[in-house]
Amino acid sequence: MNKPLWLQVLSNLLLGVEPHRRRHVLLVVLTLQPYIVNLGVIMHSVHLGLLDMRTAQELTAASVITFLVVFALVRSGWSQRFGDPVLTFPHALVSIALCIAAYVQLGENRGNVMILIAQTIVLAMFRLRPMQVLMLGVFTIVSLGISIVAMTMTNTLGGNGSSAWTHFVVGGSTLLTLSLIGKWVSDIRVRIGRQARELQEAVDTVKQMATTDMLTGALNRRMMTDLAETELRLIERTGAPLCVALIDIDHFKHVNDHFGHHAGDAVLRGVAQHTQGQIRQVDKFSRWGGEEFLIMLPTIASAEAMIAIERLRQSVETLNFPGYPQLRITFSAGLAQALPGETLEHLIERADQALYDAKHQGRNRCLLAGAELKPLAAPQAVSGEVLS
Ligand code: GH3
Ligand code: MG
Ligand code: MG
Repeated sequence: MNKPLWLQVLSNLLLGVEPHRRRHVLLVVLTLQPYIVNLGVIMHSVHLGLLDMRTAQELTAASVITFLVVFALVRSGWSQRFGDPVLTFPHALVSIALCIAAYVQLGENRGNVMILIAQTIVLAMFRLRPMQVLMLGVFTIVSLGISIVAMTMTNTLGGNGSSAWTHFVVGGSTLLTLSLIGKWVSDIRVRIGRQARELQEAVDTVKQMATTDMLTGALNRRMMTDLAETELRLIERTGAPLCVALIDIDHFKHVNDHFGHHAGDAVLRGVAQHTQGQIRQVDKFSRWGGEEFLIMLPTIASAEAMIAIERLRQSVETLNFPGYPQLRITFSAGLAQALPGETLEHLIERADQALYDAKHQGRNRCLLAGAELKPLAAPQAVSGEVLS
């Protein structure tokens, strides 16, 4: 359901419009709750005569200023430069320092402040690193201890002095346990985050391996088959033309024998890289096997596709391969345009036959497959024809 316009305008003014920033500002706004409770405790203490109005005003002003500064830094985007743009750690430190200042002033009402400190640690632990949670706990207990010692020494504990020490022991050990649990929770959070990233990387690698050829980075045969099947089904409906070109490097065995297997690999990589830079974005390029590549050229008919492949053939003739200055290669290609209702297997068979003819006619050329070469209904007769 859509929000009413006034609420939308108000939330945009308060939180901003950029989704990430909005979430960060919202997290800061949520910390208003302990601030409000703390101010309630302060006012209640004034009401009970445990706190003078002036100190209450100072504590209130310090709380309001802290919240507004953090809000402004996050809302303006200034805090985006940090790992935690919500500024959880410094904000929690200052909040706890304020709570301890209140603790010192609140007399018998100070027990409530311990609960607020615990709440601040719980709120913060879901965003902090494990060590930061622990540091927050230690900071709280140490400053609480120092405050109580100072109050004891200056005789300002008020009421029954031993109750402050009871607070310290019970509250301090609770806070320590809480910080340790917080660190443990934070550890688990960090570990789950790391595992999720590693899993995503593994999924990406598997996806990459399932769809691309490791040596050349071109699509692999399976991926190309899927894409071409889909494209064929699409042109069934749209009637748009579709061509495939089967490319085979000439005398590649000689490259391996004469220059070594590494040179052969460099040629395969070089041809793949070069071809990918030459074809259109809609064209798909794959390593079909050994030193054979298949290019799928959607939306263009054979005449235009022939120009593209011929241009590629001429540029490959002059291609240099790093580390092998003497090495030049050529390729032969068979081009076929899909016939209405033709299967992928049959289309590629026709391209293969044109490639076979190109090799027989002396290599380093591109031939167009004739539609009449293989009757659709009798593929067996076609293979007989190839062999003859
Ligand atoms: P043609 O002109 O008739 O195509 O001759 P060709 O020598 O290119 O053909 P052939 O099919 O006889 O040789 C292909 C060679 O490609 C044989 C194989 O060792 C080599 N080959 C296949 N895959 C790789 C590869 O990944 N790296 C290297 N270096 N060589 C490969
Ligand atoms: Mg071959
Ligand atoms: Mg070859």
